[in-house]
Amino acid sequence: MSPRHLFTRNPVARKAHQCWECTRPIERGTRYRVDITAYEGRTYSIKAHVECADAGMALATEMDIQDEGRDSLIEEITASGEPLDAFDLPDVVRRRLEDAIAEGEARDEARRAEALARIRAAKEAAP
Ligand SMILES: [Zn+2]
Repeated sequence: MSPRHLFTRNPVARKAHQCWECTRPIERGTRYRVDITAYEGRTYSIKAHVECADAGMALATEMDIQDEGRDSLIEEITASGEPLDAFDLPDVVRRRLEDAIAEGEARDEARRAEALARIRAAKEAAP
């Protein structure tokens, strides 16, 4: 039997959770989405920011794109050098991709800074 979706809820977080879609924390006191699924006699709950869940759904249903597809979509868009607005994307998807691209750039920047610091430290240590 394949997983069967039972129901969806949008509760307010009583404690922090991790978002299934973006992996960032779902802060206590914010509304989030829970999907309850049954599979092989057990139930599973998948928690996500409401907007992340919407974006995931829009990608999956409107564009037929799953997780790995999203990463290669980001790569294609970044490589094209075109602004995100140039692509015909659902709004909620465009916002999530903007976030993901900005995060990737911040990570690259942090990596560059770390490498520079290491080079500097090595130069200073050299006789
Ligand atoms: Zn999220």
